[in-house]
Amino acid sequence: MIVVEDVHKHFGNFHAVDGASLEIQKGSITGLIGPNGAGKTTLFNVIAGVLPPTSGKVFMDGEEITGLPPHDLFHKGLLRTFQIAHEFSSMSCRENLMMVPGAQSGEALWNTWFGRKRIADEERALRAKADEVLEFLTIEHLADHKAGQVSGGQKKLLELGRTMMVDAKIVFLDEVGAGVNRTLLMTIADTILRLNKERGYTFVVIEHDMDFIGKICDPVICMAEGKVLAEGTLDEIKANEHVIEAYLGT
Ligand code: ADP
Repeated sequence: MIVVEDVHKHFGNFHAVDGASLEIQKGSITGLIGPNGAGKTTLFNVIAGVLPPTSGKVFMDGEEITGLPPHDLFHKGLLRTFQIAHEFSSMSCRENLMMVPGAQSGEALWNTWFGRKRIADEERALRAKADEVLEFLTIEHLADHKAGQVSGGQKKLLELGRTMMVDAKIVFLDEVGAGVNRTLLMTIADTILRLNKERGYTFVVIEHDMDFIGKICDPVICMAEGKVLAEGTLDEIKANEHVIEAYLGT
C-alpha cells in the first residue's frame, strides 16, 4: 500500500533520515520502533506530507505521493493523528469530532444557497456520526466533556476517533502510549485492532511500549540512525543482533 524508496531527510548537515526504504502492506498493523533519534517521527512526517524529503520517493497504491501536502493525502485516506490542538481543548469531545475537516460536506457558501434546513440536517447527521464514533470508542459518557479535561489516554482515543469521521484507509500513529496508563493503553490497542478488523484500516504505529507493539503489530520495523535496520515479528526483531546493538549503543 505504501512504498518508501530511499528517503533522505537532512536538517543542515544532519541526516535525520538517511536512505530509508520500506513497504507497508495493506491491512497490516506495522510497528515502527528504534532508539530515540532514529528518525522515526521524521520519516512519518515525510510520508504524511508534513515535511518534504531531501530526496527519495513515497508511493501509495502505486501512485507517487512524494511531497503532497497533508490535505491532499487526507483526501486519499492517509492520515497522521495529531494531538488535540490547544484551541480545541475547550470544545466538547463531540464537537471535536464534528469539527474534523472533510466530515461535513458543506462549505459556507454552499450552505447559504441551500438554506438553513440543509445546515440543520447536516449538523444532525454529523452529530449522530460523532456519537456513533464515541460509542465505538466506549467513551460516549465523555461526549459533553471538554476535550482539554479528559485523561491522556482518552485524548488518544479521541484522536483515533477523528480518523473515523472521514474515510481513512491508512493511519499513522505517533507514540500513542506516551503518558497513558496501562489499562487505557490496552483499550487503545483493542480499538486499533477493531478498526483494523472491522473497518479495514491499515496502521503504522510508532511506540516504545513493547507489550503494546507485541500485542498488535506484525510486522515490526526497526530503525536506527535514519536507516531501516531490520523487519520481522517482534520476537525476530528482539533477537536481531543489529537491533540489540542499536539499542545498547544509546
Ligand atoms: P525518533 O522519532 O526516532 O526519536 P526523530 O525523527 O524525532 O527521531 O529525530 C531524528 C533526529 O533528527 C533527532 O536527532 C532530532 O534531533 C533531529 N531532528 C528532528 N527534527 C529536526 C528539525 N526540524 N531540525 C533539526 N533536527 C531535527
